[in-house]
Formats: sequence, C-alpha cells, structure tokens
Amino acid sequence: MTNLTEPDLTAYQPRASVLTAPFWEGAARGELMIARCPACRQWQHPPLEKCRHCATELVAEAAPLEGYIYSSTVMHHSSVPLYPTPYTVAVVAVGQPDGPRVVMRVVDSAPDDAWPDAKVRIEFRDLPGGDHRVPVAVVDNTRRS
Ligand SMILES: [Zn+2]
Repeated sequence: MTNLTEPDLTAYQPRASVLTAPFWEGAARGELMIARCPACRQWQHPPLEKCRHCATELVAEAAPLEGYIYSSTVMHHSSVPLYPTPYTVAVVAVGQPDGPRVVMRVVDSAPDDAWPDAKVRIEFRDLPGGDHRVPVAVVDNTRRS
C-alpha cells in the first residue's frame, strides 16, 4: 500500500554502471574514487572510458578528502525529498582549486560559510532510502578562530 505522505526514497538510489561502480564502492568504504589517467595524470569526473587529453583508458584512484568550494547554492525548494530544506549544494574542486569538480551537499556548516575558495573536508554520509553513501563537504573554519 502506498503511503502518500512518505515519499518512496528508493526511487533516488544510484544505479551503478561499469564506469560509476568504483565511485559508489569507494564511497561505501570512505574513499572518493575518481577516474584518473595513468599516462597524463589528469583527473576526470564524471568518469569516461578514456582520457579526454590522451585517450588512455582511465583508472579510478582515491582522491584527497579535501578541496575548495568552486560554487554553491542554497536549496530552499528541493526537487527531491531526500533532505529537509534549506540545504546547501556545492561544486567542490577536489584536492586543489583546479582539481576535478564533484557536486556534493555541504553539511555541518552555515550556508554563509560555503563561499568560493573556502577550504572543505570531504566526508561521507548515508543516502536516505538505501544503503549507499555519498560524499559531503564540511567547511573548514579553523582559519577563522
Ligand atoms: Zn591522459
């Protein structure tokens, strides 16, 4: 029987493909696995089969669990029922300011903290409705004190 007040969160679970399975398997064990070229060392996210720069086959590699806010927005009206509003979503440059960009929710931080170039720590949280984990960004405020 369908409960109209409780959304079916199983509809929002990722379906891993050959290319994305390393990302989801890494998230489950607390690693941010991003495709990287073994020849020219360029990161690539979302993953592709071959490097955009030299066409070498890409391999998933654990990326640093830190980064910088590239851009962010506060979601006041969510299109998915996974998180209570408002919440902040950011494009995070992983590892360094020109690193691969990964979209993630900003948690345990005030929306005003998620400014461009703010340093973040990358952690993992459960995705509601299933058994996947997703990367999230926590703004590093240690420089402010
Ligand atoms: Zn390459």
